[in-house]
Amino acid sequence: MKGDLELFKIFGIEVKVHFSWWIILVLLAWGLASSFFPIYYPGLSLMQYWIIGLVSAFLLFVSVLLHEFAHSLVAKSRKVVVNSITLFFFGGVAEINTEDLKPWDEILIASAGPIFSLLLGIILMFFYFNISNAYFNAITFYLYQINFVLAIFNMIPAYPLDGGRVLRAILHYFTKSLKKSTYFASLLGKGFAWFLGSVGFFRILSGDYGGIWLMFLGIFLHFLAGMSFEQVLYSEILKKWKVKDLMEKKFPVAYGDEDLAHFLTRNFSSKYDSFLVVKGKKSTKKEISSFSKKNLLGVLDLKKMGEMTIEVEERIKVKQVAYPLKYLKTLSSNQKSDVALRTLLKQGLNILPVIDKSKVVGLMWKERLIRSLVWERKYGVVMKKK
Ligand SMILES: [Zn+2]
Repeated sequence: MKGDLELFKIFGIEVKVHFSWWIILVLLAWGLASSFFPIYYPGLSLMQYWIIGLVSAFLLFVSVLLHEFAHSLVAKSRKVVVNSITLFFFGGVAEINTEDLKPWDEILIASAGPIFSLLLGIILMFFYFNISNAYFNAITFYLYQINFVLAIFNMIPAYPLDGGRVLRAILHYFTKSLKKSTYFASLLGKGFAWFLGSVGFFRILSGDYGGIWLMFLGIFLHFLAGMSFEQVLYSEILKKWKVKDLMEKKFPVAYGDEDLAHFLTRNFSSKYDSFLVVKGKKSTKKEISSFSKKNLLGVLDLKKMGEMTIEVEERIKVKQVAYPLKYLKTLSSNQKSDVALRTLLKQGLNILPVIDKSKVVGLMWKERLIRSLVWERKYGVVMKKK
């Protein structure tokens, strides 16, 4: 995400904070220092309220981080890839590769977070009742309750909350359909989002402006529930197609040793803006079909090329501005197209060569893939298999 600041890396998981986190940290500390602690711990100075407010707000985020770590470490123990944890506005997200997750794995991973928060809450409650230091007492008082809130809120069976994930996994186990179970779980998610939003709205109407948080949370959850379902739909569609069903078998090429200026004038009216770069100098052929991988040099994307003067373009060769083969993640014709789309998006290129054994057999266009996906979703067009 844009605006993420990387903090550190532990167990191979990157921990990042979104810029919104800093705003919330200050707002939360302010709320705690100005209203929460003065009510439960009267008689302290403003400075003291701010200190315990800031420490508590910070420790709340530590609690959220630990909650996400609970998810992530269980995921890792089930051999599921975890990339990063990001703290933001409404808490945290662990970027766990949930594609093709088995129901049991999902149940274990999703329930690890709330169970951890519950245990942490119990431990903090124990400290709260057994320690008499006023600062420590105030902070643990807040923290044990907030960890219970974290546990209980996340256990609500509203997808994509943890409880909703558990529900979806149970439904998935019985119905064997990820689509149907995600649909039902995200419907509950949207219902719960409406409920939260309405409670927030009526609280605002009755003069309690704290309700605005609930309203935001409701809108946010509604958006997430809808998006998560769309994602499942799209990847279900893409899984039906293999790369060979969608790839082009004739593709535009550029010759690595041709001057860039020459190449550009020659392709002045070309309908393409991405080319496979092959060895050799000029040829009259603009499109070719399968060829040996040995001749492939890389990919040329005109949109990714910076502005250059004619003098420069006359001096450099096509291969010098191409994206070199050694950094390309290539595709194979029997791969499922959801993997292909993910590879294309990760690589940030418009096209990727499809290579079987030692031959370049096709070209995958990102736009073509996305268009097929959107059309299938919209019109239910059944695509003919090639
Ligand atoms: Zn969670």
